[in-house]
Amino acid sequence: MKPAPFDYSAPRTVPEALALLADEERDPKVVAGGQSLIPMLNMRLARPGLLVDVTRIPGLDRITVDAGGALHIGAAVRQARAAADPVVRSGWPLLAAATGHIGHPQIRARGTVGGSLVHHDPAAELPTAALALDARFVIAGPAGERTVAAADFFVATFQTAVAPDELLTEVVLPPCAGGWAFEEHARRHGDFATVGVAVRLERAAGAAGAIGAARVVFCGAGSVPLRLPAAEAALTGSDAGPAALDAARAAALAHLEPSDDVHATAAHRRETAAHLLVRACTTAWERTR
Ligand SMILES: Cc1cc2nc3c(=O)[nH]c(=O)nc-3n(C[C@H](O)[C@H](O)[C@H](O)COP(=O)(O)OP(=O)(O)OC[C@H]3O[C@@H](n4cnc5c(N)ncnc54)[C@H](O)[C@@H]3O)c2cc1C
Repeated sequence: MKPAPFDYSAPRTVPEALALLADEERDPKVVAGGQSLIPMLNMRLARPGLLVDVTRIPGLDRITVDAGGALHIGAAVRQARAAADPVVRSGWPLLAAATGHIGHPQIRARGTVGGSLVHHDPAAELPTAALALDARFVIAGPAGERTVAAADFFVATFQTAVAPDELLTEVVLPPCAGGWAFEEHARRHGDFATVGVAVRLERAAGAAGAIGAARVVFCGAGSVPLRLPAAEAALTGSDAGPAALDAARAAALAHLEPSDDVHATAAHRRETAAHLLVRACTTAWERTR
């Protein structure tokens, strides 16, 4: 199918983009890489009268590190560029690894970091990585700029804290220490994940053999990226040995409540998630060395 007719505008500044997004009559919509939006237009699941292309706004394509060591990624940075960026790969390797799992090279070459985060498919990799990395989201709107923490950004399937007249401008990731891993299962290479997990582990200060802090976040296990405090508690203070891994696995089996769909049953998702968690914890712990 072909999309319904729409106007197109490519503003060069954030205020220009916001002025276009305020045009309620034309029901405007931001377009970035178009990898999720254009199929929706083609299937007529969305019929905006105006597309506001944010990929030509200088600054939205920037990757920088501030004086405090936090990474700033412009919303319009292409996924392939984020995955290949040497600063991202060395300082925030979890983000680079998660991005590398998105679809195929062609998708990552066009798709943007911000587009994936605002689109918020519950099986998507970047929302899960963002929550695991304590991302903060900078959102520009008619009332000025606001910053939203990852825990408050993802509201429900295909829904985030970004309002229709607002624009995600950048994502900020604090410095990232410790070991990490991102594991996912997909039925075919390049498919969305059936389920996946991001793990971060830090060694306890002065206790070389113990986990000081753990972060466990799943994708494909609910309507938003899902932190699993029971697994984090089972890991924290442990030596990441078999007993701790069994406890983390049991926590996943006990607490995850994924849904059935055409791709997998809930039981299959839960078992796979528990298995991936053990594998990810083992890798993350190795990487703390
Ligand atoms: C064949 C195929 C396979 C794919 N596989 C995967 C996969 O395995 N994992 C995965 O995570 N994704 C996958 N995707 C989706 C891909 O990651 C998209 O790139 C991403 O979901 C959307 O990014 P985009 O830049 O293309 O955004 P667009 O499609 O342009 O926009 C998506 C949505 O976000 C909004 N938006 C975009 N940027 C902003 C902004 N800065 N501020 C406010 N709103 C904004 C748009 O209005 C729209 O609602 C796949 C896509 C295809 C076509």
